[in-house]
Amino acid sequence: MDKIKMTTPLVEMDGDEMTRIIWKILKDELILPFIDLKSEYYDLGLENRDKTDDQVTIDSANATKKYGVAVKCATITPNAARMDEYHLKKMYKSPNGTIRAMLDGTVFRAPIVVKGIESNVKTWDAPIVIARHAYGDVYKDTEMKIEGAGKAELVFTGKDGSESRETIFDFGEDGGVVQGLYNVRSSIESFARSCFTYALEIKKDLWFSTKDTISKKYDHTFKDIFQDLYDNEYKEKFEKAGITYFYTLIDDAVARVMKSHGGFIWALKNYDGDVMSDMISSAFGSLAMMTSVLVSPHGYYEYEAAHGTVQRHYYKYLKGEETSTNSVATIFAWTGALRKRGELDGIKELQDFADKLEKATLDTIESGKMTGDLALITTNPNPVKLNTEDFIKAIRANLEKML
Ligand code: NAP
Ligand code: MG
Repeated sequence: MDKIKMTTPLVEMDGDEMTRIIWKILKDELILPFIDLKSEYYDLGLENRDKTDDQVTIDSANATKKYGVAVKCATITPNAARMDEYHLKKMYKSPNGTIRAMLDGTVFRAPIVVKGIESNVKTWDAPIVIARHAYGDVYKDTEMKIEGAGKAELVFTGKDGSESRETIFDFGEDGGVVQGLYNVRSSIESFARSCFTYALEIKKDLWFSTKDTISKKYDHTFKDIFQDLYDNEYKEKFEKAGITYFYTLIDDAVARVMKSHGGFIWALKNYDGDVMSDMISSAFGSLAMMTSVLVSPHGYYEYEAAHGTVQRHYYKYLKGEETSTNSVATIFAWTGALRKRGELDGIKELQDFADKLEKATLDTIESGKMTGDLALITTNPNPVKLNTEDFIKAIRANLEKML
């Protein structure tokens, strides 16, 4: 069989620990035998980030801007323990944070739905994709503890020195707490654009929800920005694609989501997205079955697994013990990126290959062969638990039958 040829490189961002081990096996077994892979490789493993003073992360984001499509392995975000473990020069920022800031993107997380791993919510039979606006609000707030009586005010001082002020509350002797939040128009607009772009890309309805009836200026601004953009730039495209944009209050949205069949994108403000994404991912089974794609309003795409580097499994692996780490989300990161590359470059074989690799992966699980995390929760009465490498080899066997 001739290997599939590529014309434009894919940006490949390698990572850390168990996912780095998986990355190598996955490429050797599922990608390189079938594709003449053209990739620009960036080693985002923590050692190389330290060696390059994190320049490699910045270079990889710039390469994504150049080529448009990246696939990323999970990476360590250093904390105090990692400083010692890797003898780091400094506590580098999260690579995902750096890349997201440079691409100005929104992260969409989608569960991978497969027979035998049932959702806790009976009606959910198609994925619910969560889009979280990862900027500002309570994550960048300013807070005060008020210890005694006095007036808390909101004051804005314009560049010309003019002031506008609002009383927040007149506190009594027992005091209380006060919090200041902000967001910026350009970030909300980018978020909205990414959501509309991605909805058109995957041809799914887009829901957006805030609490605009209570927050008449703050949340209402989010609602207005989405609506204006939709009316002016996306309405026709949505109608043509046969999808809808639907705004509703957050509490109404939650009630509807619980009764829905899934199959849509749910865009949420920062805090709502933080909370709801954990609910959705746990209801669909396992964090190891959740993909993640960063979509920039400029049309760049970066695909990855939603989980981390699976450190606990890596330490077992280092001791020579057998591991059974789930590679599905990382495989789907690769298929997402290859399919997108194929679409952009008009390479039908690459898109077909991505479809087949996904099907081979799901077929493997449906046939009862799976990793330990899934064997624990499957409704299949006789699951066969495979180790990390054998699971990937079982997928290869299914894939070869399809090619
Ligand atoms: P994690 O790597 O997601 O793993 C947490 C636990 O979830 C694992 O110990 C394992 O449970 C289970 N799990 C996650 N993925 C799995 C998979 N593919 N197969 C089987 N089980 C899986 O989170 P963490 O341990 O909190 O973080 C480890 C490192 O990852 C940290 O350094 C963090 O900075 C980094 N991280 C990176 C990203 C990213 O790059 N996107 C995201 C999150 C975290 P059991 O041990 O019970 O089997
Ligand atoms: Mg959370």
